Amino acid sequence: MANKVLETPARSDKEIVKDYFNSTGFDRWRRIYGNTDEINKVQRDIRQGHQQTVDYVVDWFRKDPQTPTYTVCDAGCGTGSLAIPLAQLGATVYATDISEKMVGEGQGKAKEQNLDKLTFGVSDLAALTGEYHTVACLDVLIHYPDNESEAMIAHLASLAQSRLILSFAPKNPYYTLMKKVGDLVPGPSKATRAYLHREKDVRRVLWSLGFTVKRHEFIASQFYFSRLLEAVRP
Ligand code: SAH
Repeated sequence: MANKVLETPARSDKEIVKDYFNSTGFDRWRRIYGNTDEINKVQRDIRQGHQQTVDYVVDWFRKDPQTPTYTVCDAGCGTGSLAIPLAQLGATVYATDISEKMVGEGQGKAKEQNLDKLTFGVSDLAALTGEYHTVACLDVLIHYPDNESEAMIAHLASLAQSRLILSFAPKNPYYTLMKKVGDLVPGPSKATRAYLHREKDVRRVLWSLGFTVKRHEFIASQFYFSRLLEAVRP
């Protein structure tokens, strides 16, 4: 009996991420993605950086007259930072997240606005099915190591009829160093592992799935950095 503990399998990254975004991570990110003033300087910087990523995507939809005809799957939707403005523009949006707390927060925000084309659900993105004009997945790849990210992108691509929009923290020598320094600083935000991805690897996967990158952006503030890709089927 004494070695029962040793037999317990190691928790997967996914279980750790799910628990985190239902507990301390929920509290942290709900505030970063919300509009409370009760955040510190680093969190404010991350809020502004993330908002720029969202704004680029919303702008692509806003400038497209076809947007009200689109179905969009927002995979790993968090508290609805992207899903809500897209529904406001008239798109039909299905927003899901592995964390029921994050989804609950998003539902709460959306409720006041009567967005009848927006539906939330709790789901691991690997379990998503269906077909959507656009699949968007912002700032989720940071939770996926390289050996799992390819399958994750392939699954999202299989749901996307026309377009896949992805953002991720790019891996280069400078950011790898920054992350190493950041990892040395203890803090609640370090409760999950963060994975950076080489842009050329993500592009290679998209290419192998038959997508070409039509637009790209790079968003960088002091503590937030993100490469945003819009990949389309030719
Ligand atoms: N896309 C949102 C939230 C980013 S935070 C935005 O940009 O505002 C990362 C989110 O990914 C968290 O809400 C987390 O719960 C979710 N997530 C992580 N792994 C996931 C998985 N396997 N399936 C679904 N959601 C996942």
